[in-house]
Amino acid sequence: MENPYLLLTPGPLSTSHSVRSAMRLDLCTWDDDYLQLVQQIRTKLVRLATANEHMIQYTSVLMQGSGTFGVESVIGSVIPDSGKLLIATNGAYGNRIIEIAKALHIPHVIYQSNENEPVNAGEMDRVLMNDPDISHVMVVHCETTTGILNPVKDVCEVAKRYGKTTIVDAMSSFGGIEMDVHNWKIDYLISSANKCIQGVPGFSFIIASKQNLERCKGQARSLSLDLYDQWEVMEKQHGKWRYTSPTHTVRAFDQALSELAEEGGISARFKRYAENQRTLVEGMEKLGFIPYIQREHQSPIITSFLYPESHFDFVSFYEFLKHKGFVIYPGKVSDQLTFRIGNIGAVHVSDMERLLDAIQTYQEGKGVVTA
Ligand SMILES: *Cc1c(COP(=O)(O)O)cnc(C)c1O
Repeated sequence: MENPYLLLTPGPLSTSHSVRSAMRLDLCTWDDDYLQLVQQIRTKLVRLATANEHMIQYTSVLMQGSGTFGVESVIGSVIPDSGKLLIATNGAYGNRIIEIAKALHIPHVIYQSNENEPVNAGEMDRVLMNDPDISHVMVVHCETTTGILNPVKDVCEVAKRYGKTTIVDAMSSFGGIEMDVHNWKIDYLISSANKCIQGVPGFSFIIASKQNLERCKGQARSLSLDLYDQWEVMEKQHGKWRYTSPTHTVRAFDQALSELAEEGGISARFKRYAENQRTLVEGMEKLGFIPYIQREHQSPIITSFLYPESHFDFVSFYEFLKHKGFVIYPGKVSDQLTFRIGNIGAVHVSDMERLLDAIQTYQEGKGVVTA
Protein backbone atom coordinates (compact mmCIF):
# COMPACT_ATOMS: atom_id res chain seq x y z
CA MET A 1 0.00 0.00 0.00
CA GLU A 2 1.27 3.45 -0.87
CA ASN A 3 1.23 6.33 1.59
CA PRO A 4 -1.47 8.87 0.68
CA TYR A 5 0.83 11.78 1.53
CA LEU A 6 4.30 12.76 2.64
CA LEU A 7 4.52 13.81 6.28
CA LEU A 8 6.35 17.13 6.57
CA THR A 9 5.96 16.98 10.35
CA PRO A 10 8.57 16.47 13.05
CA GLY A 11 7.56 12.90 13.84
CA PRO A 12 5.96 10.58 13.31
CA LEU A 13 7.46 11.21 9.91
CA SER A 14 7.53 9.52 6.54
CA THR A 15 9.54 6.33 6.83
CA SER A 16 11.02 4.18 4.09
CA HIS A 17 9.13 1.25 2.68
CA SER A 18 11.80 -1.10 4.05
CA VAL A 19 11.43 0.29 7.59
CA ARG A 20 7.69 -0.33 7.47
CA SER A 21 8.21 -3.79 5.97
CA ALA A 22 10.47 -4.77 8.86
CA MET A 23 7.38 -4.79 11.07
CA ARG A 24 5.83 -7.75 9.29
CA LEU A 25 7.26 -10.32 11.69
CA ASP A 26 5.97 -11.31 15.09
CA LEU A 27 8.88 -11.72 17.48
CA CYS A 28 8.97 -13.28 20.92
CA THR A 29 10.02 -10.82 23.62
CA TRP A 30 12.23 -13.27 25.51
CA ASP A 31 13.66 -15.30 22.66
CA ASP A 32 17.41 -14.95 22.02
CA ASP A 33 16.89 -13.57 18.50
CA TYR A 34 14.95 -10.65 19.87
CA LEU A 35 17.22 -10.05 22.85
CA GLN A 36 20.23 -9.93 20.53
CA LEU A 37 18.46 -7.39 18.34
CA VAL A 38 17.79 -5.18 21.36
CA GLN A 39 21.41 -5.43 22.52
CA GLN A 40 22.71 -4.54 19.05
CA ILE A 41 20.43 -1.51 18.93
CA ARG A 42 21.63 -0.36 22.36
CA THR A 43 25.26 -0.57 21.23
CA LYS A 44 24.55 1.20 17.94
CA LEU A 45 22.90 4.07 19.79
CA VAL A 46 25.94 4.55 22.01
CA ARG A 47 28.14 4.47 18.91
CA LEU A 48 26.09 7.30 17.41
CA ALA A 49 26.39 9.30 20.63
CA THR A 50 30.12 9.35 21.27
CA ALA A 51 33.59 8.49 19.96
CA ASN A 52 34.91 4.92 20.19
CA GLU A 53 37.32 5.65 23.02
CA HIS A 54 34.49 6.82 25.31
CA MET A 55 31.87 4.24 24.39
CA ILE A 56 32.76 1.91 27.25
CA GLN A 57 31.59 4.44 29.85
CA TYR A 58 28.17 4.86 28.27
CA THR A 59 25.07 2.79 27.76
CA SER A 60 21.58 3.23 26.38
CA VAL A 61 18.22 2.30 27.85
CA LEU A 62 15.12 1.81 25.74
CA MET A 63 11.81 2.89 27.29
CA GLN A 64 8.29 2.12 26.12
CA GLY A 65 6.09 5.03 25.10
CA SER A 66 6.54 8.20 23.08
CA GLY A 67 9.31 10.73 23.65
CA THR A 68 7.57 12.39 26.58
CA PHE A 69 7.62 9.07 28.48
CA GLY A 70 11.42 9.09 28.12
CA VAL A 71 11.62 12.67 29.37
CA GLU A 72 9.38 11.87 32.32
CA SER A 73 11.36 8.72 33.08
CA VAL A 74 14.60 10.69 33.29
CA ILE A 75 13.21 13.60 35.31
CA GLY A 76 11.44 11.24 37.68
CA SER A 77 14.44 8.93 38.14
CA VAL A 78 17.61 11.02 38.21
CA ILE A 79 16.75 13.85 40.60
CA PRO A 80 16.95 12.88 44.28
CA ASP A 81 14.40 14.22 46.78
CA SER A 82 16.96 16.79 47.89
CA GLY A 83 17.52 17.98 44.30
CA LYS A 84 16.36 21.01 42.37
CA LEU A 85 16.02 21.29 38.61
CA LEU A 86 16.85 24.36 36.53
CA ILE A 87 14.72 24.26 33.37
CA ALA A 88 15.65 26.45 30.39
CA THR A 89 12.71 26.97 28.10
CA ASN A 90 11.89 28.83 24.91
CA GLY A 91 8.98 26.78 23.65
CA ALA A 92 6.34 24.13 24.18
CA TYR A 93 8.73 21.25 24.81
CA GLY A 94 10.67 23.19 27.43
CA ASN A 95 7.31 24.04 28.99
CA ARG A 96 6.39 20.36 29.01
CA ILE A 97 9.46 19.72 31.19
CA ILE A 98 8.02 22.24 33.66
CA GLU A 99 4.68 20.40 33.61
CA ILE A 100 6.45 17.13 34.37
CA ALA A 101 8.42 18.67 37.25
CA LYS A 102 5.17 20.03 38.66
CA ALA A 103 3.32 16.73 38.30
CA LEU A 104 6.14 14.90 40.07
CA HIS A 105 6.50 17.60 42.78
CA ILE A 106 10.13 18.19 41.92
CA PRO A 107 11.50 21.55 43.11
CA HIS A 108 12.48 23.56 40.04
CA VAL A 109 13.39 27.00 38.76
CA ILE A 110 12.57 28.25 35.31
CA TYR A 111 14.84 30.23 33.03
CA GLN A 112 12.56 31.55 30.31
CA SER A 113 13.74 32.97 26.96
CA ASN A 114 11.75 34.43 24.10
CA GLU A 115 10.53 31.85 21.62
CA ASN A 116 12.59 33.41 18.83
CA GLU A 117 15.84 33.53 20.82
CA PRO A 118 18.13 30.66 21.83
CA VAL A 119 18.53 30.17 25.56
CA ASN A 120 21.53 32.14 26.80
CA ALA A 121 24.26 30.17 28.59
CA GLY A 122 25.68 33.37 30.13
CA GLU A 123 22.36 34.20 31.76
CA MET A 124 22.09 30.63 33.01
CA ASP A 125 25.51 31.08 34.59
CA ARG A 126 24.04 33.92 36.68
CA VAL A 127 21.04 31.80 37.70
CA LEU A 128 23.39 29.03 38.82
CA MET A 129 25.62 31.44 40.70
CA ASN A 130 22.66 32.80 42.68
CA ASP A 131 21.00 29.49 43.49
CA PRO A 132 23.38 26.88 44.91
CA ASP A 133 20.46 24.51 45.62
CA ILE A 134 20.16 23.70 41.92
CA SER A 135 21.44 20.16 41.31
CA HIS A 136 20.33 19.46 37.72
CA VAL A 137 20.08 21.55 34.55
CA MET A 138 17.81 20.68 31.65
CA VAL A 139 17.51 22.11 28.15
CA VAL A 140 15.89 21.17 24.83
CA HIS A 141 18.29 20.97 21.88
CA CYS A 142 16.06 21.61 18.87
CA GLU A 143 12.91 23.30 20.23
CA THR A 144 10.49 21.79 17.75
CA THR A 145 7.89 24.46 18.54
CA THR A 146 9.78 26.88 16.31
CA GLY A 147 12.73 24.93 14.91
CA ILE A 148 15.24 26.98 16.92
CA LEU A 149 18.51 25.34 18.02
CA ASN A 150 19.65 25.90 21.59
CA PRO A 151 23.40 26.04 22.43
CA VAL A 152 23.40 22.78 24.36
CA LYS A 153 27.18 22.47 24.47
CA ASP A 154 27.56 25.95 26.04
CA VAL A 155 24.75 25.34 28.53
CA CYS A 156 26.27 22.02 29.66
CA GLU A 157 29.71 23.61 29.87
CA VAL A 158 28.36 26.26 32.26
CA ALA A 159 26.39 23.69 34.27
CA LYS A 160 29.48 21.51 34.67
CA ARG A 161 31.53 24.48 35.90
CA TYR A 162 29.11 24.49 38.86
CA GLY A 163 29.22 20.70 39.18
CA LYS A 164 25.60 20.16 38.06
CA THR A 165 24.08 17.14 36.32
CA THR A 166 22.93 17.89 32.76
CA ILE A 167 19.85 16.54 30.98
CA VAL A 168 19.18 17.22 27.30
CA ASP A 169 15.99 16.66 25.33
CA ALA A 170 17.55 15.89 21.95
CA MET A 171 14.31 14.34 20.73
CA SER A 172 14.12 16.03 17.37
CA SER A 173 17.86 16.35 16.71
CA PHE A 174 19.65 13.12 17.70
CA GLY A 175 20.51 11.21 14.53
CA GLY A 176 20.12 14.31 12.38
CA ILE A 177 22.69 16.59 13.95
CA GLU A 178 26.11 15.41 15.09
CA MET A 179 26.67 15.59 18.82
CA ASP A 180 28.92 13.85 21.32
CA VAL A 181 27.57 13.25 24.82
CA HIS A 182 31.09 13.07 26.21
CA ASN A 183 32.47 16.23 24.58
CA TRP A 184 29.25 18.14 25.11
CA LYS A 185 29.14 17.05 28.79
CA ILE A 186 25.61 15.66 28.53
CA ASP A 187 24.83 13.35 31.46
CA TYR A 188 21.43 12.18 30.16
CA LEU A 189 20.37 12.48 26.53
CA ILE A 190 16.80 11.63 25.55
CA SER A 191 15.47 10.91 22.06
CA SER A 192 12.87 8.68 20.44
CA ALA A 193 12.37 6.13 17.70
CA ASN A 194 10.26 8.22 15.35
CA LYS A 195 12.36 11.34 14.78
CA CYS A 196 15.73 11.68 13.03
CA ILE A 197 16.57 7.97 13.20
CA GLN A 198 13.46 7.61 11.01
CA GLY A 199 11.81 4.70 12.76
CA VAL A 200 8.15 4.34 13.71
CA PRO A 201 6.65 5.49 17.04
CA GLY A 202 6.65 3.26 20.11
CA PHE A 203 9.63 3.91 22.35
CA SER A 204 12.13 6.48 23.52
CA PHE A 205 15.74 5.96 24.49
CA ILE A 206 18.13 7.42 27.00
CA ILE A 207 21.90 7.61 26.62
CA ALA A 208 23.88 8.06 29.83
CA SER A 209 27.05 6.94 31.54
CA LYS A 210 26.81 3.78 33.59
CA GLN A 211 28.25 5.70 36.52
CA ASN A 212 25.38 8.19 36.42
CA LEU A 213 22.73 5.48 36.07
CA GLU A 214 24.09 3.69 39.15
CA ARG A 215 23.18 6.76 41.19
CA CYS A 216 19.49 6.52 40.23
CA LYS A 217 18.80 3.30 42.11
CA GLY A 218 15.65 3.45 44.23
CA GLN A 219 14.96 7.07 43.35
CA ALA A 220 12.18 6.84 40.75
CA ARG A 221 8.78 8.39 41.35
CA SER A 222 7.11 5.84 39.07
CA LEU A 223 7.22 2.08 38.71
CA SER A 224 6.91 1.67 34.95
CA LEU A 225 9.12 4.71 34.17
CA ASP A 226 11.92 3.72 36.56
CA LEU A 227 15.03 4.33 34.46
CA TYR A 228 17.36 2.44 36.78
CA ASP A 229 15.17 -0.67 36.95
CA GLN A 230 14.66 -0.65 33.20
CA TRP A 231 18.43 -0.47 32.71
CA GLU A 232 19.17 -3.13 35.31
CA VAL A 233 16.80 -5.64 33.72
CA MET A 234 18.12 -4.87 30.21
CA GLU A 235 21.67 -5.43 31.43
CA LYS A 236 21.15 -8.49 33.61
CA GLN A 237 18.77 -10.20 31.20
CA HIS A 238 20.76 -9.20 28.09
CA GLY A 239 18.19 -7.14 26.22
CA LYS A 240 14.97 -7.96 28.07
CA TRP A 241 12.56 -5.07 28.67
CA ARG A 242 10.76 -5.10 32.02
CA TYR A 243 7.29 -5.11 30.54
CA THR A 244 5.96 -5.92 27.05
CA SER A 245 8.20 -4.26 24.52
CA PRO A 246 7.07 -2.84 21.17
CA THR A 247 8.60 -5.70 19.17
CA HIS A 248 7.49 -4.52 15.73
CA THR A 249 8.71 -0.99 16.40
CA VAL A 250 12.04 -2.34 17.60
CA ARG A 251 12.52 -4.31 14.40
CA ALA A 252 11.64 -1.26 12.31
CA PHE A 253 14.10 0.77 14.38
CA ASP A 254 16.90 -1.69 13.70
CA GLN A 255 16.21 -1.38 9.98
CA ALA A 256 16.15 2.43 10.34
CA LEU A 257 19.57 2.32 12.03
CA SER A 258 20.94 0.22 9.14
CA GLU A 259 19.57 2.77 6.68
CA LEU A 260 21.17 5.61 8.63
CA ALA A 261 24.52 3.81 8.31
CA GLU A 262 23.94 3.16 4.58
CA GLU A 263 23.20 6.82 4.04
CA GLY A 264 26.65 7.63 5.45
CA GLY A 265 25.85 8.19 9.11
CA ILE A 266 24.72 11.31 10.92
CA SER A 267 26.95 13.70 8.95
CA ALA A 268 25.38 12.59 5.65
CA ARG A 269 21.89 12.75 7.10
CA PHE A 270 22.57 16.23 8.44
CA LYS A 271 23.69 17.28 4.97
CA ARG A 272 20.47 15.97 3.39
CA TYR A 273 18.30 17.66 6.01
CA ALA A 274 20.23 20.92 5.64
CA GLU A 275 19.81 20.82 1.85
CA ASN A 276 16.09 20.09 2.24
CA GLN A 277 15.76 23.01 4.61
CA ARG A 278 17.78 25.39 2.45
CA THR A 279 15.73 24.50 -0.62
CA LEU A 280 12.52 24.99 1.35
CA VAL A 281 13.44 28.38 2.80
CA GLU A 282 14.89 29.81 -0.41
CA GLY A 283 11.79 28.74 -2.30
CA MET A 284 9.40 30.00 0.35
CA GLU A 285 11.17 33.36 0.51
CA LYS A 286 10.79 33.67 -3.28
CA LEU A 287 7.08 33.07 -2.79
CA GLY A 288 6.97 35.84 -0.19
CA PHE A 289 6.99 33.82 3.05
CA ILE A 290 9.16 34.90 5.99
CA PRO A 291 10.70 32.38 8.42
CA TYR A 292 10.04 33.11 12.10
CA ILE A 293 13.56 32.20 13.31
CA GLN A 294 16.69 33.99 12.16
CA ARG A 295 18.88 31.92 9.90
CA GLU A 296 21.79 31.61 12.35
CA HIS A 297 19.57 30.01 15.02
CA GLN A 298 17.51 27.85 12.68
CA SER A 299 17.78 24.05 12.82
CA PRO A 300 17.78 21.91 9.67
CA ILE A 301 14.80 19.98 11.13
CA ILE A 302 11.64 22.09 10.97
CA THR A 303 10.91 25.69 9.96
CA SER A 304 8.20 28.06 11.20
CA PHE A 305 6.83 30.58 8.73
CA LEU A 306 4.80 33.68 9.55
CA TYR A 307 1.36 33.91 8.01
CA PRO A 308 1.84 36.01 4.84
CA GLU A 309 -1.08 38.19 5.88
CA SER A 310 -3.30 38.26 8.94
CA HIS A 311 -6.32 36.85 7.08
CA PHE A 312 -4.28 33.92 5.68
CA ASP A 313 -6.55 30.89 5.53
CA PHE A 314 -4.35 28.13 6.98
CA VAL A 315 -7.10 25.52 6.80
CA SER A 316 -7.61 25.94 3.06
CA PHE A 317 -3.81 26.03 2.52
CA TYR A 318 -3.43 22.84 4.58
CA GLU A 319 -6.25 21.05 2.76
CA PHE A 320 -4.92 22.04 -0.64
CA LEU A 321 -1.43 20.74 0.18
CA LYS A 322 -2.83 17.54 1.65
CA HIS A 323 -4.76 17.01 -1.57
CA LYS A 324 -1.44 17.46 -3.42
CA GLY A 325 0.23 14.86 -1.17
CA PHE A 326 1.88 16.88 1.60
CA VAL A 327 0.90 17.18 5.24
CA ILE A 328 2.30 20.27 6.96
CA TYR A 329 1.99 21.33 10.58
CA PRO A 330 0.11 24.13 12.35
CA GLY A 331 2.17 26.68 14.29
CA LYS A 332 2.75 26.62 18.03
CA VAL A 333 4.30 30.04 18.70
CA SER A 334 2.29 31.79 21.43
CA ASP A 335 2.22 35.38 20.16
CA GLN A 336 2.46 35.13 16.35
CA LEU A 337 0.48 33.34 13.66
CA THR A 338 2.75 30.71 12.14
CA PHE A 339 2.69 27.35 10.44
CA ARG A 340 5.48 24.80 10.29
CA ILE A 341 7.05 22.63 7.64
CA GLY A 342 9.30 19.77 8.67
CA ASN A 343 11.94 18.35 6.37
CA ILE A 344 13.11 15.23 8.22
CA GLY A 345 12.26 11.61 7.43
CA ALA A 346 12.36 9.92 4.05
CA VAL A 347 12.21 13.35 2.42
CA HIS A 348 14.51 14.72 -0.28
CA VAL A 349 15.24 17.94 -2.15
CA SER A 350 12.96 16.81 -4.99
CA ASP A 351 10.09 16.56 -2.48
CA MET A 352 10.78 20.11 -1.32
CA GLU A 353 10.72 21.26 -4.96
CA ARG A 354 7.38 19.53 -5.56
CA LEU A 355 6.01 21.11 -2.39
CA LEU A 356 7.12 24.58 -3.52
CA ASP A 357 5.40 24.02 -6.88
CA ALA A 358 2.20 23.09 -5.07
CA ILE A 359 2.43 26.20 -2.87
CA GLN A 360 2.96 28.38 -5.94
CA THR A 361 -0.10 26.82 -7.57
CA TYR A 362 -2.10 27.57 -4.46
CA GLN A 363 -0.96 31.19 -4.52
CA GLU A 364 -1.85 31.55 -8.18
CA GLY A 365 -5.42 30.98 -7.19
CA LYS A 366 -5.71 27.49 -8.53
CA GLY A 367 -5.91 26.44 -4.96
CA VAL A 368 -9.60 25.73 -4.87
CA VAL A 369 -10.10 22.15 -3.76
CA THR A 370 -13.06 20.59 -5.49
CA ALA A 371 -14.66 17.72 -3.67
C1 LIG B 1 8.70 15.13 19.69
C2 LIG B 1 9.33 15.81 20.83
C3 LIG B 1 9.14 15.37 22.16
C4 LIG B 1 8.28 14.18 22.53
O1 LIG B 1 7.01 14.25 22.08
P1 LIG B 1 6.10 12.94 22.02
O2 LIG B 1 4.86 13.45 21.38
O3 LIG B 1 5.89 12.45 23.39
O4 LIG B 1 6.85 11.95 21.19
C5 LIG B 1 9.83 16.00 23.18
N1 LIG B 1 10.64 17.02 22.91
C6 LIG B 1 10.86 17.49 21.67
C7 LIG B 1 11.80 18.62 21.46
C8 LIG B 1 10.20 16.91 20.57
O5 LIG B 1 10.41 17.36 19.34
